[in-house]
Amino acid sequence: MSPDSGSRLLLRRLRALMAEPLDEQARLDRVVVLIANTMVAEVCSVYAVAEGGRLELFATQGLNPEAVHQTRLKMGEGLVGVIATTAEALNLSEARTHPSFAYRPETGEEAYHSFLGVPILHTGHTIGVLVVQNRTKRIYEQEEVEALETISMVIAEILAARGAVGAATSVERVTGARRLEGVSIVAGFGIGHVVLHEPRVHVTNLIADNADIEVKRLESALGELRNSIDQMLERADFLHASEHREVIEAYRMFAHDRGWVARMKEAVNAGLTAEAAVERVLNETRTRLVRASNPYVRDRLHDLDDLANRLLRHLTGAAMTASRDELPRDAIVFAHNIGPADLLDYAGRNLRGLVLEEGALNGHAAIVARALGIPFIGRVEDVLAIVDDGNAVIIDGETGEVFLHPGADIKKIYKKKARAARRQQASYDKLRALPAISKDGTEIALQLNAGLLVDLPHIKSTGADGVGLFRTELQFMVASKLPRMSEQMDFYRAVFDAAGSKGVVFRTLDIGGDKALPYLHMDNEENPALGWRSIRMIDTRPALLRMQVRALLRAAGRRELQLMFPFLTEVAEFVRARELVDIEILHLRKHGHDSPETIKIGALIEVPSILWQLDELMPLTDFVSVGSNDLHQHLFACDRTNPRLSGRYDMFSPVMLKTLRHIVRKAAEHKTPLTLCGEMAGDPLGAMALLGLGFRTLSMAATSVGPVKTMVLALDVEAVENLVASNIDNMTSSLRPVLEDFARRNDIPV
Ligand code: PEP
Ligand code: MG
Repeated sequence: MSPDSGSRLLLRRLRALMAEPLDEQARLDRVVVLIANTMVAEVCSVYAVAEGGRLELFATQGLNPEAVHQTRLKMGEGLVGVIATTAEALNLSEARTHPSFAYRPETGEEAYHSFLGVPILHTGHTIGVLVVQNRTKRIYEQEEVEALETISMVIAEILAARGAVGAATSVERVTGARRLEGVSIVAGFGIGHVVLHEPRVHVTNLIADNADIEVKRLESALGELRNSIDQMLERADFLHASEHREVIEAYRMFAHDRGWVARMKEAVNAGLTAEAAVERVLNETRTRLVRASNPYVRDRLHDLDDLANRLLRHLTGAAMTASRDELPRDAIVFAHNIGPADLLDYAGRNLRGLVLEEGALNGHAAIVARALGIPFIGRVEDVLAIVDDGNAVIIDGETGEVFLHPGADIKKIYKKKARAARRQQASYDKLRALPAISKDGTEIALQLNAGLLVDLPHIKSTGADGVGLFRTELQFMVASKLPRMSEQMDFYRAVFDAAGSKGVVFRTLDIGGDKALPYLHMDNEENPALGWRSIRMIDTRPALLRMQVRALLRAAGRRELQLMFPFLTEVAEFVRARELVDIEILHLRKHGHDSPETIKIGALIEVPSILWQLDELMPLTDFVSVGSNDLHQHLFACDRTNPRLSGRYDMFSPVMLKTLRHIVRKAAEHKTPLTLCGEMAGDPLGAMALLGLGFRTLSMAATSVGPVKTMVLALDVEAVENLVASNIDNMTSSLRPVLEDFARRNDIPV
C-alpha cells in the first residue's frame, strides 16, 4: 500500500463510517474489519485502557470474538502492554520470539506470526493500542506503520468519546489519584477543577477533504506562528520576562525546522487535516523525547508541546489563554509560568488556586496571588504533561501538595481542613479591633499592601493601620491601554475614600523588571531587572510620572497625601522626583485647584547602593520603607523570579539582617519613620525577626495581618531583640533555626 493513497483511502472509508449513526462498540467492530480488509491483515484488534489501568481487548477482527472484553493485560505486560508503556510501535515478523510475548489462549492468536502494534494516543497519553497481525512471517513496511499510526488517531477519537475512557483519557486518570509535590508559595487550600492557562486544543476534525487546502492552511498558520515568535523575541525579557530569550530562540528554531514542517506536510498528504497532522507529528516527537532523562531534552519537549499548541491555536482560532474564558466555579489555574498581568486577568473570577511548573516566592505573580488570597504552589515539575482541563484537583498551599483526581478520603480530609481554616480565619477576625501589642507592651503598626479595588475592603476587614504600600502599577497592568489621568484620579479617589481616616502610602509607578505594560513600547533589554525601570524612567518619560502625580494630588484634594518613590539608586533621583512633585503642586495652585495640606514624601530602600547614602537621603525624606524583595534580590545578585534560586539565599542570613539593622540604625539617628513592606513582613517568622531588629511598622498582604498579629500578641519583643543581637554578629549561616527554636520554646505561632 503506498503511504498516501493507502491511508487516504482508509481515512475516507473511516470518515464515512464515523458519520453513520452507530454506538461506539458497533463503530469499533466495523473499524477493525475495515482496517483488516484495507491493510490485507488477517487480524486487526483494538485494546483500550479500561478501569483499573488495564488494557482490554475492545474489538477484533480475526481473533476469537469471545475474547472481546475478556482479555486483559497489565501495563507493560505482553506486546500490547509494552507498546502502551513505551508509546512506541512494535513491528515483528515473529511475535512469539519477543521476550515480552504473553500467550492468551482465549484469543486464538497462535496462528499468527507477524505483528504490528501502534499506540493510540490522546492529548499526549496512551489510551490504547491498535494491532494488526498476519499468518505469514513478514516485517511491515514503514508506510504501513505510518498508515496505522495515522488511523490510530481516528480511533483515539472514538475511544475518547466513550464513557469509560472518554471522561478519563489518560492512564493516570483511569488509575486514579495522584499526589504531586511542589513548593508552597501562598498558603491556603483550593478544592476545584483544573483550568489550563494555555488550554490545549483538542483536535476533533481529523480527516481532510482536500489535501491542497490543508497544506495551504498549514503554511499560513506556520507563517502566523513565525511572526508571533519574532514579535515575542522583540519584546522578550520585557513583556515575557519569564520566557527567557533562550526559550523563544528555541521556539524559532523549531518553527523553522524543515524536518518538522516536512513531517507535518507528509501527514497532510496521508489524508489528515492540518491540525491532525500537527498533533500526529507532536505525538511522534514526544514519544522520542519523553523518555530522555536529560533535563535539556525534556525542556525541549516542553517547548515543542507549547509550540505545537500555539500552532494549533493559529489553525483553529482558539484563544491563547483561558484568562478571558468563562471559568468553572472552582477554577485552579495550571501553567508553566504566569506573569502578574495575566494572573490579574483572573482576579475576582472564581479563581481558587494556582499551580505552576515554575514560580518563585517573591516574584510578582506570588505577590498578586497573595493579594488575591489565592493559594499558590510552584515548581511542580512537568505537571502539565499529566493534567487536563476539567480534572478534579485539590491543592494544599501549606505543604505544597497537589492531589489530582483525589479520592473520597482525600476530599474528606480537605473539606475538614477547609473548615478548620475557616475557623482560623474567624479567630483572626476576632482580633480585628485589637491593637497589635506585644506581651511586653510594645505597640506594632500592621499595615496593608494593596493595589487593586478588590483590596480596599481589606482595610476594614483586617483592621490594618492603613495602607503601607499601594502598588499603583497594578491598575496600569490590568488595563489594556494607558489609563487616562481622569481614570487614575477616579481610582485614587476611591482608594482615599475606602481608607477614610487611615493613611495610604501611594508608591509611584514601579514598572519594568517583571512588571510589563504591553501597550507601552519598551526597548528590549538583556537584564530587565537591572534595566530602564521604575523611577529611572523619570528622564525619558517624565510625563508618565507627572500625570500620575497630578492625578494623585487632585484625588487627594485637601486630604493628606503620602507618596513614595521606588527603586532609588542614588539621592539625586529622589531630589529630581521631589522637584517634579513641587512643580505639579505649583501647577495645581496656579489653576485654582485644592492641594493637600500635608504631603509626605518617602523613599523605598531596595537598591543596595542607596544604603551608602542614607545620611544624605534621610534628612530629605518624610519616611522610608524597605522593599525587602528587591533589596534581597539585588544584595545577593539573585533573580527573585528564578525558581532555582528561591530559597538559596535566606532572608534570615546575617548579611540580610545586618543590612536591615544598618537601615534601622540610620532611621533612628535621623528620626526618620521607618517601615518594611516586602514579603518578609507578612511571614510571621520574618516579622518576628524584623521586630527583633527594631522595626515597629510592617506592611503586608491582607491575608498576613491575622497571622502576624497573632504572633505579635504572643511575643516578648525585648526577648527577640536580645536573641537577634546576640546572634547576628557571630553566626555565619542563616539565623532561621535560632528564630524557629525561639518561637517553639516560647509558644509563638509562626
Ligand atoms: C519590594 O521590592 O520589596 C517591594 C515592596 O516592591 P515590589 O515587590 O513591588 O517590587
Ligand atoms: Mg520592589
